[in-house]
Amino acid sequence: MKSHTRPFKAGSQEKIFPEHENDAYKLKGKLRDPSVCSTCEAVYQDARWQWSPRPPSAEEVVCPACHRIADREPAGFLNIEGEFAPQHREELVQLLRQHEARARATHVMQRIMAIEDDSGKMIVTTTDIHLARDLGEALKAAFHGSLELKYSKEDNLLRAYWRR
Ligand SMILES: [Zn+2]
Repeated sequence: MKSHTRPFKAGSQEKIFPEHENDAYKLKGKLRDPSVCSTCEAVYQDARWQWSPRPPSAEEVVCPACHRIADREPAGFLNIEGEFAPQHREELVQLLRQHEARARATHVMQRIMAIEDDSGKMIVTTTDIHLARDLGEALKAAFHGSLELKYSKEDNLLRAYWRR
């Protein structure tokens, strides 16, 4: 059984793409339960990150999302290419931000790090691979175009390309 080591291929992504799991970026050892992020105040409790009141016994840590933001080390990249984006930039950004707000309400580690313009392209970076994929899918659902996903299990990195 080597299927999990195969490179990401369109059409088979559901089998290979990991389920939601806790990002271990920069975490030293196992997280104490409960812990609280000293930067964003997300709480790690019952083995998952959530927005909830700080438990009195919580240990202070920096959560993986805040570590990635501080290090400028994204897990997900969404490249937006083609002529559509420059003409509809505001609409696109609004959709991306709305989607992020909904996502991070339940998936606390899913955040947009930056939305940058780079010689006619837009590059959206995220703290979480699932968010990059979901943002690409949201663009495709709203504005059509084509979406390509390249996932590297080794690096826990997703590059999504939306073109229109
Ligand atoms: Zn945090």
